[in-house]
Amino acid sequence: MLSIDHIFQALESPKKIFITTHQKPDADAIGSSLGLYHYLKQKGHQPTVVVPNELPDFLHWMPGVDTVLNFESEPKTCMGVLKEAELIFCLDFNHLSRVKLLEAPLRNAVQPLILIDHHLQPEAEVFYAGTSDPEKSSTCEMIYDFILQVGDQELINDDIARCLYTGAMTDTGSFRFPATNANVHEMIAFFKKRGLQHSRIHEDVYDSWTENRMRFIGYAMHQKMEVSANGKLAIIALSEEEIRPFNLLAGDTEGLVNMPLGINTVKVSVLLTQKNGLIKLSFRSKGQIDVSSFSREYFNGGGHFNAAGGSSEESMEVTLKKLKSLITNIIP
Ligand code: 5GP
Ligand code: MN
Repeated sequence: MLSIDHIFQALESPKKIFITTHQKPDADAIGSSLGLYHYLKQKGHQPTVVVPNELPDFLHWMPGVDTVLNFESEPKTCMGVLKEAELIFCLDFNHLSRVKLLEAPLRNAVQPLILIDHHLQPEAEVFYAGTSDPEKSSTCEMIYDFILQVGDQELINDDIARCLYTGAMTDTGSFRFPATNANVHEMIAFFKKRGLQHSRIHEDVYDSWTENRMRFIGYAMHQKMEVSANGKLAIIALSEEEIRPFNLLAGDTEGLVNMPLGINTVKVSVLLTQKNGLIKLSFRSKGQIDVSSFSREYFNGGGHFNAAGGSSEESMEVTLKKLKSLITNIIP
């Protein structure tokens, strides 16, 4: 993979540009994709954001979200956009297995794939150029860096600032995780000087729950959280039948896995949620416990050192048995 500056020249003339991100996209995925979209539009390009599947409901206020195409529900339209594109940006993921049904079309694409991402262990050989930096707080921060690197700071408008702020805010746990360095705060300062109304974004993301979502979280914490390993491990496992009565919206389980880390003894938190027979696992840890390697080794996943995900095609019972027998090995 070449460095990102190898594409600067290509961006000097108008291009049709395909922007995509990981399945089950979160705020950093959508924020970085739409932040880049608004920037490229201002540069005179024709960008389109295509996501592998449904967007979280709590992001429906984001500027430009109505232009986003969903590959799962509109495959033909998305394939048309892909064929016409001259460049393909891949944001907030680094392995093509992360884009679900889009994996084969991207592997077969003749256009250059450009990576901007902050996860560990990129599948570097499939990308023509890009930037991969696990030290970065968020892909949104990397889009900001990219715009500055091109020398286009002046093009950062309110739409771009709102999108990038959102992903940086969620991926840093509201600016508290260790990756929240001076560069992140300088970016926010730049947005603020240009008039960003940040408190509205916090309200839109964090104070916009449905009653059902709140009751679901209450149920998960009260009835389903199991604490073991001398208080160091918390597991919440939710089957399809347990989730169904709450009529959840896309994105409604977001943040749940972080909550048990609020217990003073808990070092590792795992959330298992079942949908259409498949179990999705989310891992969070405190300190020097590498859940990314664990998830990669045993659950076909990956991510960051302290926040990772994976999946299992086994039953809940079998998955839990496997998880419980292995995870205590990484807890000191
Ligand atoms: P979450 O638990 O919030 O879904 O994901 C935590 C982190 O791990 C995110 O940065 C996400 O992109 C990554 N991640 C989640 N699921 C998977 C997966 O199945 N494979 C890989 N490689 N990364 C994942
Ligand atoms: Mn991210």
